[in-house]
Amino acid sequence: MLPHDKLFIPGPVEVSEKTWAAFSRPLIGHRSDDFKKLYRAIHPKLQTLFGTKQPVFLSTSSAWGVMEASIRNLVDRGVLCCMCGAFSDKWFDVARRCGKKAEPLEVEWGKHIDPKEVDRQLATGRFDTVTLTHSETSTGVMNPLPEICCVLAKYPDVALIVDTVSSFSAVKIDMDALGIDVMLTGAQKALALPPGFSLFSVSEKAFTRAQKVPNRGFYFDFLEFRNEQAQWMTPSTPSIGHIHALESKLDEIFEEGLEARYARHASTNALVHDWVCRTGFEFFAEEGFRTKTLTCVKNNKGIDVLELARRLRQKHHLVIDPGYGKIRGQTLRLSNMGDETEETVAHLLNCLDDSL
Ligand SMILES: *Cc1c(COP(=O)(O)O)cnc(C)c1O
Repeated sequence: MLPHDKLFIPGPVEVSEKTWAAFSRPLIGHRSDDFKKLYRAIHPKLQTLFGTKQPVFLSTSSAWGVMEASIRNLVDRGVLCCMCGAFSDKWFDVARRCGKKAEPLEVEWGKHIDPKEVDRQLATGRFDTVTLTHSETSTGVMNPLPEICCVLAKYPDVALIVDTVSSFSAVKIDMDALGIDVMLTGAQKALALPPGFSLFSVSEKAFTRAQKVPNRGFYFDFLEFRNEQAQWMTPSTPSIGHIHALESKLDEIFEEGLEARYARHASTNALVHDWVCRTGFEFFAEEGFRTKTLTCVKNNKGIDVLELARRLRQKHHLVIDPGYGKIRGQTLRLSNMGDETEETVAHLLNCLDDSL
């Protein structure tokens, strides 16, 4: 049998035996009472995690499905895409491919989005939608979400879409209090579920907007999701295994406690940060704007990052990421999200020391 190489890349992350066991439970019909009971049972927990009273939807797609859906459901006049790395940059590309009028608000990779710049752009009146990536997984930047939400509050006709794929459930994000109109996340990041499934929630303002936007399609139509959720169902056959796994994961999350979960992500992240300083590396993301779920390490020492990743995998069966897209080899990314503890992250760092 092949060795089990444990993933410390920023998604997909390691999936526990317990989660896999829940994932492979016997199937139930998606129009059955058992399914409705399952959806109804997990829903309040999902609302708590999202910080919302709005319905939370289950999408059988990777996060990009819901990202594209958000554009198709909300953008009418024009969308401002806040771009600071590979994922946030992609939003702009997707908006254009959907035939929408999109404009970039772009900063250098490693930098954060300045709320004042968002304000300046929205004041032009050209936009009815903004896309923002909370935790930019390619660069390790965490954007100042509360400050950006304060700016949006000045523009009640503008809808805010927030990609929380690599921060959801690891960092507290209150959708309703912040005034977020679409908040979305994927299964394979901090939730530590298998990939191919997403969660999202939609504000009343966004539903009202969607009603007026033509060509929403069917699979990702927010209004279809809302109608079906009212009966504890999904528009089409969902990945039922994911929902069983999610139920199991939610039990774990609330057993641990949300505050303890946020604190665990902060402390494991701090361990990696200490390691970066101790080994003489630097951070790719600017100070004060670093995410808590992964670390994007700048290869200021000019080591062969791909060779390091190879050695770590061969000898220790641990997998790290040698940098995303145009910063491959110039950075390495270490994930601390999901089920990782101080013990497992310390083990990763010891093995890295050994492989350096
Ligand atoms: C991983 C990631 C995505 C893409 O998710 P998929 O599941 O591959 O569609 C989008 N945004 C961010 C910030 C991510 O980290």
